[in-house]
Amino acid sequence: MKKGYIVIDQSLCKGCGLCMDVCPKDLITTAQELNIKGYYPAEFRDGDAENPDGCTGCALCALVCPDIAIEVYRE
Ligand code: SF4
Ligand code: SF4
Repeated sequence: MKKGYIVIDQSLCKGCGLCMDVCPKDLITTAQELNIKGYYPAEFRDGDAENPDGCTGCALCALVCPDIAIEVYRE
């Protein structure tokens, strides 16, 4: 069951990929468009047919982000 979601402030993101590596559900990908800093920022991709559970709200992504660009919400 889906338990949470995240909001990424893409203007703060430098596209380092740490959050993408750490997410146990593989829910964070790289956006197709550059942000204001000229990086391809992280983008949240919530659960889909292949991964219906979606975000657990574990907050690993937010903890690992060096730029504090991710906020986690639990439902
Ligand atoms: S809170 Fe956990 S499950 Fe949700 S996107 Fe972040 S690392 Fe993935
Ligand atoms: S860890 Fe933070 S700075 Fe790095 S890609 Fe993810 S949101 Fe962007």
